[in-house]
This record gives sequence, C-alpha cells and structure tokens, in this order.
Amino acid sequence: MSHTPAYVYLFGRQRTDGSAAMKNLLGGKGANLAEMCRLGVTVPPGFTVSTEACTVYTQQGRDAALKLIDAEVRAGVAAVEAEMGKRFGNAEDPLLLSVRSGARASMPGMMDTILNLGLNDVAVEGLARKTGNERFAWDSYRRFIQMYGDVVMGLKPASKEEHDPFEVVIDMLKDTRGVKLDTELDAADLKELVARFKALIRARIGRDFPTDPWEQLWGSVSAVFESWNNERARVYRELNDIPEAWGTAVNVQAMVFGNLGDSSATGVAFTRDAGTGEDLFNGEFLVNAQGEDVVAGIRTPQQVTLVGSRRWAELAQVGEAERRAKYPSLEELMPDIYRQLLEAETLLENHFKDMQDLEFTIQEGRLWMLQTRNGKRTGAAMVRIAMEMLAQGMIDEKTALQRVSPDRLNDLLHPIFDAAAMKGASVIARGLPASPGAATGQVVFFADEADDWAKRGKAVILVRQETSPEDLRGMSVAQGILTARGGMTSHAAVVARGMGKCCVSGAGALHVDYKARCFSVGERTWNEGDWISLNGSTGEVYDGRIATKDAELSGDFGKLMALADKYKRLEVRTNADTPEEARVARGFGATGIGLTRTEHMFFEGERIVPMREMILAEDEAGRRRALAKLLPIQRGDFEGLFREMSGLPVTIRLLDPPLHEFVPHDEAGQRQLAQEIGVPVGRIRLRVEELHEFNPMLGHRGCRLGITYPEITEMQTRAILEAALDARAKGAAVKAEIMVPLIGTVREFNAQAKVIRKTAEQVFAERGERIDYMIGTMIETPRAALVADSIGQQAEFFSFGTNDLTQMTMGFSRDDAGKFLPVYLKAGMYEHDPFRSIDQKGVGLLVEQAVKKGKAVRPHLEVGVCGEHGGDPASVAFFHRAGLDYVSCSPFRVPIARLAAAQAALEG
Ligand code: PEP
Ligand code: MG
Repeated sequence: MSHTPAYVYLFGRQRTDGSAAMKNLLGGKGANLAEMCRLGVTVPPGFTVSTEACTVYTQQGRDAALKLIDAEVRAGVAAVEAEMGKRFGNAEDPLLLSVRSGARASMPGMMDTILNLGLNDVAVEGLARKTGNERFAWDSYRRFIQMYGDVVMGLKPASKEEHDPFEVVIDMLKDTRGVKLDTELDAADLKELVARFKALIRARIGRDFPTDPWEQLWGSVSAVFESWNNERARVYRELNDIPEAWGTAVNVQAMVFGNLGDSSATGVAFTRDAGTGEDLFNGEFLVNAQGEDVVAGIRTPQQVTLVGSRRWAELAQVGEAERRAKYPSLEELMPDIYRQLLEAETLLENHFKDMQDLEFTIQEGRLWMLQTRNGKRTGAAMVRIAMEMLAQGMIDEKTALQRVSPDRLNDLLHPIFDAAAMKGASVIARGLPASPGAATGQVVFFADEADDWAKRGKAVILVRQETSPEDLRGMSVAQGILTARGGMTSHAAVVARGMGKCCVSGAGALHVDYKARCFSVGERTWNEGDWISLNGSTGEVYDGRIATKDAELSGDFGKLMALADKYKRLEVRTNADTPEEARVARGFGATGIGLTRTEHMFFEGERIVPMREMILAEDEAGRRRALAKLLPIQRGDFEGLFREMSGLPVTIRLLDPPLHEFVPHDEAGQRQLAQEIGVPVGRIRLRVEELHEFNPMLGHRGCRLGITYPEITEMQTRAILEAALDARAKGAAVKAEIMVPLIGTVREFNAQAKVIRKTAEQVFAERGERIDYMIGTMIETPRAALVADSIGQQAEFFSFGTNDLTQMTMGFSRDDAGKFLPVYLKAGMYEHDPFRSIDQKGVGLLVEQAVKKGKAVRPHLEVGVCGEHGGDPASVAFFHRAGLDYVSCSPFRVPIARLAAAQAALEG
C-alpha cells in the first residue's frame, strides 16, 4: 500500500490500517474496531483520527489541528463512501456518520458521541424516500440536532433542577398530542420537533444549526477533542489515574440503524457476567431503537439470551407468559441473528482472551458489531473470570494473577447485611442487582450534595431517576446508588461496578421528585435525609438503617490467593492490636504481626484509669504503682495475640504516643478523673498543662518515653515475655519480637535494649524458664535511616515506620497535611498523596539505602514496613524491589498486599 497514515487510520472490509496493538495511537475503541475488521467480523467501515491529532489540537488549537488532518479525513470519508455505496451530503441517499471519542483507557460514557451526522433539511427527505420510512428519517434528524445542539453547540440545562431543554420541548409536544411515549409521535410530529429544536438553538445559542455536512463533521471532531478536557472527563481521569497527556482519538464511522422497524434492534452484551463473573453470555437489547437508548436506561431492555431473560423475569416478578409476549429474548425473537452474535462473542473472547463488552446493531435483519473491549467488572467477577479462564486453559497462571487489580479485591471484602439485623427489615422496592454489596445511608438526590454530606462524615445513598456522567463525584462518595430507571448496562450500573460500589438500578416502583427532594413508592414517601438500605447483590431496597458486616475469603478468591503465594517473595504480616484483629488477618493469610500498637489497648473500657494514674504520678514510685495495675492487663492482651498467631512472629512495639493523648483536656473529663483516682482536679489541670506540646509529633514520644521513664519499658517487657511464657505453656509456638519506636541514634536503641535484656533475665530467673525473643527497632526518623549501618549492628530487625518517616522527611505532619495537600495534588506538586503511596524518589531513597546499610552489617537482618504504605499496591511493588522481607498492613488489606506482592515478583 502506497499510503502511510499520518493522523487518520482506515478500517473496513477493503482496507484496515490499524490493529489492537495500536491502542496508544488509536485509542481502545479504534484499535479494537481495526482488530475486529482483521478478524473478519462485520463492522461498519470508518476511520480513526489518532490521539496525536488530539495533542496537536490541545497544544496548537483547532485551526492548526484541522488543517493537519483535512486531506486525510477527506480521503477517509471517500473510502467509507466507496464501501457503503453512498455519498456524504448526497440529497437522495446520504451517507450518515457517527463520531465517537475513544481514549487509550476506556472511559465509559465520559465523553461525547454524535450520531446521524450528515443530515439536513434536504438529506432527510432523501433518507425518507430511500428507506420508505418517513418517521425514521425525521426521528434520526431530530436526534442528530439534539445531540449536536448539546455536545457541539453547548445547549445544556441552565441549572441542576432544570431538565434537558430538548426533552422539555419533546414533553410539551407529547402533552399537546396527548401521548406518553416518544414512539407514539408520528413523522409530522417529529418534523415539528425539528423546527422547534432549531428555534430553541437559535434562541438560546444565537446561531443557526449548521446544515453543511462538512461543517457538521469538523464541528463534531473538534467537540470530541474538546471533550477530553471537560469536567466529567477530568474527574474520571482523576479517579482512575489516567494522564492528561494521553488525549483521545476520534472514530468516524458509517451509521447503521437499529431503529428501522421491528427487524432492527440495538444492544450491548458481555461474554461473561460482569457482576458475578459467571461464564454465561448475557446482554440487553431494544427493538427499533438507537444505541444510546439502551445505556440511557429510559426503556426497559430485553435480554439477549433465553436463560438471561428467564432470570430477569424472576427478579422483575414478570410471569413466563408475559415475558414471552412482551419481553422475549433475542434468542427467541431473532434466532439467526442470535447465532451470529454467539459466534462473534466466542470468536472475540477467544481472540482477546478476556471478557468482552460488545455493542451491536441489527439493521433490517443484518448484524453489525460496533464495538468490543475488555469489559469492566466487579472485583468478584475479576477474580472468578481470571480463575475460570485459567482453569479453561485460556490464560496461564501469571496472566491470571495480573488480571486482577489488587485494590479491587476490596469489593470481595465488601460488607454484607448482618443476618440478625435483616430479621426486621422490610423491602420497599426491587430493582436490578447492578453492583453487589450492602449499603446503608441517608437519602440524597443530587451528586454535589452527596459530596457535601459525605464530607461532613455522613453515610449517603444517592437516589436518582437515572444517573449521568455528571453524577460521578457523588457516586464515588456515596455508600450506594439507587436509580428508578435503567438496566444492567445503564450508566449507573456500569460505573458503580467499575467503582466496586453497591448499586440497585431500575427500581421502577420509585417516583423521584427532585424539586420536593423526596421519592415515593405507592403511598409512602421518603425525604432527603431518611435512611434506606440497598442490597446490590439481590436488587432489594429496604426501609431504614440495617447493620452491615464484613465478608470472608473463599472459593476462587482463596485459589487466587494461593496462586499469589506461589509467586510472591515478600511476606505479608498484619498490623493488629487485638486478638480479634489477629484472627481476621490470619484468616486473610497474614503470616505474622508486623506491628502491635500497645497504646491502643489502653483506650478500652476501664483500662484508661491506671494509665492516667501512671501519667499523673508525681514520682517513680507512683508510676510503678500504676504500672503494676497495667501489667496484668497487658500480659493478658499479649497472650491472646501470641496464641492467635501461634507459629508466626509477633512484633510488639513499646509505648509510642505523646502522653497528652491519654488525659482529658476538658473540664468535665478532668473532674471525673479527679473523682476516679482521688486527686484534686487542680493537680490534673496542672499536669495536663505540663504535658502540652507545641508539636507533639516531634515531642516527648517514642523511645523518649522509655528513656525518661524506663519503668514503662520494664513493665511492657515483663508483660510481653510473661505472656510469651504463658502462651507457650498453653501450647502456642511463640516468636516474640520487641520493637523500640522512633529512635534517631543507636544510643537510644542501646539504652532501651539494655532495659529489655535486664528485665528479661529477671523474668526468666523468676519463672525458671527461658524463651527466645528478638529486639529490633522502627526506622522512622530520617536520621535512623541515614545511620542504619550503625543501628543494624545492634538491632536484630528493622521495621520502617513510613508514616513518621514520610512526615519527617517531607516536613509536614500527617494530621495537618489535609489543609494544603489537596491543592498540592491538584497542582501536580506531588503525583500521589505521599501518606497513601510511598514517595519513591525521596522517602523511598531513605528506605532503599537503609535496607542496604542494615543488611551489609547484618546479612540476616529482618526488614519490614509497618506504615500505612504496607497495604498500598504501588508501594508494595516498591518494597519488593527495595529488598524488604515483609510488609505489614491492616487485616483487610492483607489479601491486597499478597496479590500486589505476587504481581511485583512477576514484574521482576
Ligand atoms: C509509622 O510511623 O509508620 C508507624 C507505623 O507508626 P505510627 O503510625 O504508630 O506512628
Ligand atoms: Mg510511627
């Protein structure tokens, strides 16, 4: 072929320039359209304007970009004309085009689409004559004006309470005609709509709707490029870590019509179940409709397969006779087409070796595939599909592990309703089980308000008639989403599954009244702020607040975890302060405790009292008296931890936080304490004032406590080792690791290690038996990291406290960063929140060097991390590369860290 594409890549039966390998250049949609053509799947011909053209558009502006692509686009249109046997802008039999965006990563519903491009007052007549269907022609035209008016000319609702202005015009006409459905409007009505739409545009925008097809095309291509930077696309990119520099491609394609009568239809399908992962082809379609109707969720779609249709009917409480008559499956309605579709889905899934999300249109009995892409899915589906494809021999173990994003395992750990709390629950409505999980919260009707409420710490359920991409932010902060309209493939359903968020869609019994801020079901009404609960796995909506509880690891999830263990090198421990947390974490596969924050135990019940006595004591003798009361309590707690973790290491850290955290700062609290421990309130007030620090995070805390009050270290060492002996006596295999917090110099470590060893010898002498234990340290001040070689000569293990190490290296406190960090992140000062994902270049450098220095002086030095970063997949990958032995994270992040560790090992 002589022609080499510069910015425009053709696809079709006659010639295809692109392929699936060219996603960066052609976007996911364009690359896959080309790939389908290569596979011989029937696709309407077209061309893709590359993401490079988008970059030119963004950087150099519209004129420069359009000039650059002009000749190639014209050649592209000519090629489509040749294949379809129609001419663009022709008055008798016009070629109509669709214009769609398509970025490198799929951004469903995030950007804009124009259909039926090429129609004008002349061409519409030609189309009517050619198809012999006047109503269809005018309906296509009015849809085109509506989309073009919205997307290209910017005619949108003026406020959030206002409905779409075009829909208002339609509703007015329907009222005058006394009809309910759009389909009841006839050709004359639609002609009238076209006139009214054009008048609306002229009145609101001050310009005429353009009738020149080329002007329409350039306008649409430009609008797609512009849409890369619209608000909802930016929010989606932010939520999904998609770089702005990627840009979007534009796909221009011959139109095919699903609204040419009863032998036409349009639909979407998944090669496997996107909610559960079940290996069952499924999808939805609408007869005599255009593509956007299915996702818009306005009509109730029918199921593609008979099995799916029967399942749907059961959920929707539709009887078999009614189902067959009113909502037959495609399999029943058009068996031939169904067979072709089945062939295409099998071919495409086998080719891409992943679950595919397909769009198709049937035009007068002929099937056209419009799109294929790897389907979005819930975390549960992600795991099941990966494990089943592995079992089916479609993919290998490594691919199966890489198919699951670690963070999405959260979905499987999603709460379910507490069985006891379900007893009194009453179902108020039923919808489709669009995205699994259980949610309970207060009703809110607007996305921006959901955001406000959530910021104030409220749990909200976003209730909408149907959702649109503008609702994204509100959806992301809500506990769950409930919509009155829409099928399993509606925007709400697809987006909620992508977020792993509980969603019930299409609960038809709901009447939502935005103005009055309420919804009703039959006679009953729920107002903004009322509590409801959703079960996204069954589609049930409940009145009131229902307690939820956490789920467990089993089935495919368990298999995936076993596979992860086969490939990972890093061990995954847990941060646990109670035997219960230790038990949960062990259930999730933790191989030890990396951090027990002993102080957390002091806040429970009555325990705080002797702790406060200790803090308020005037001298060592007083402190020792109070510590003697704490000893048995701590010993009991530690014994519980050792027994739960029998056979595995348990790292217990000595007291760390500044003491002021334990005393009451308010008058009433101080009075109560005065009574409880029998000292004058004045003395308490004075002591609290003494304890005040200007910067407590850099104050009297960490090993500084044990150095100034060695009796605390003595008591805790005694509690740990006595507990270890007691647990061993009861049959547990104990591996105790005593950890000194927040050192900056090896002398601090040595001083504490001396107290620990001396106390240990006393305990062993008293008990007449010994037990092995290790003494190690946290590395959480920059100085400790820098002198890790001298510390490594003394300490038997290191555990990086990356929370403190981050705040001390960055120079901002983790408690106060919230005031400016959001602004910083928006401005790109940091790519990520450094408290969530480790700052690899700065803080990470300290970690890498400290590991090297420590291991150089003590080759078997055990090195782990116990800051929050231990459960963050990107950080886990970094710790793998840095040569750590383990990460330690909260119990519910253990499976995530295990998978992340395996993926890190596979990446090498
Ligand atoms: C740390 O600093 O990373 C750590 C684990 O300790 P804490 O969060 O208790 O300060
Ligand atoms: Mg710390």
